[in-house]
Amino acid sequence: MNLPLNIDFTGKVVVVTGAGGVLCGTMAKAFAQAGAKVAALDLNEEAVKKLADECKAEGLICEGYKANVLEPEALEAVHGQVLKDLGPCDILVNGAGGNNPRATTDNEYQHEAQEGQKTFFDLDAGGVDFVFKLNFQGTLLPTQAFAKDMVEKKSGCILNISSMNAYIPLTKIPAYSGAKAAISNFTQWLATHFAGTGIRCNAIAPGFLVSNQNRALLFNEDGTPTARSEKILNGTPTRRFVDSEELLGGVFFLCDDRAASAITGVVLPIDAGFAAYSGV
Ligand code: NAD
Repeated sequence: MNLPLNIDFTGKVVVVTGAGGVLCGTMAKAFAQAGAKVAALDLNEEAVKKLADECKAEGLICEGYKANVLEPEALEAVHGQVLKDLGPCDILVNGAGGNNPRATTDNEYQHEAQEGQKTFFDLDAGGVDFVFKLNFQGTLLPTQAFAKDMVEKKSGCILNISSMNAYIPLTKIPAYSGAKAAISNFTQWLATHFAGTGIRCNAIAPGFLVSNQNRALLFNEDGTPTARSEKILNGTPTRRFVDSEELLGGVFFLCDDRAASAITGVVLPIDAGFAAYSGV
């Protein structure tokens, strides 16, 4: 892929969780292309092994590891393996995260709910718990496992993945919105907590991306935008979606110790202007 910034990460060990997915798979490969030794972690072992094989075929350094970001002991074991294979972690990208249908309402507004639809009153406590746990603890626990290396080295960088819905919640997804707000908050907490250790901690807040999972929600079969898609585009002053490769400039910048040496505790929106626009 065509890298947006000419930053050299040679020799850096970059651990990316959720690397079996769309956004973090792109980030993991980009870091490898920029010279890093990449540890790609995911619950989906097949996906990260495939990514690692693709990287190796191009002469890049990337190893895939099965890891559940919610299991401290498993994370410790993977940490030990990464230490052996690649060395201590310099950069951690906490990418694993997501929503769950059990924590999503069918309607935007209660007064529009039809018989048989899932309303706010039907939200499943277990589903809400799942989403908070995946996004929040799924960021905290890998940081416990991998930031120890950085404390020892007295340098390092943590990058969390927040979202547009952390600023103002999106309709239908209260748990995911709340959990991502917690990620923005935790990013500031970590930046402060680690301030004296040489570790910086920042986040990106991606806007609306078209991925294989949401393509059908955003576009009709004839390629025209769906009603939800129209709403998103009307709320975006540049009237466009964001491409996963467009996250890379912000990711590289925030993870580069020279370019972003004084930047810690920020959440960078990469959203084509969505968060800046009042709609009027
Ligand atoms: P994705 O579903 O393609 O990837 C997420 C990956 O996380 C998957 O490979 C999945 O297997 C993995 N995962 C899930 N649970 C896990 C666990 N317990 N342990 C380890 N791995 C686990 O999603 P994506 O769109 O690439 O999103 C990546 C990150 O970006 C997420 O944190 C998401 O919330 C955030 N985000 C996405 C968008 C978007 O529009 N796609 C926008 C804003 C933020």
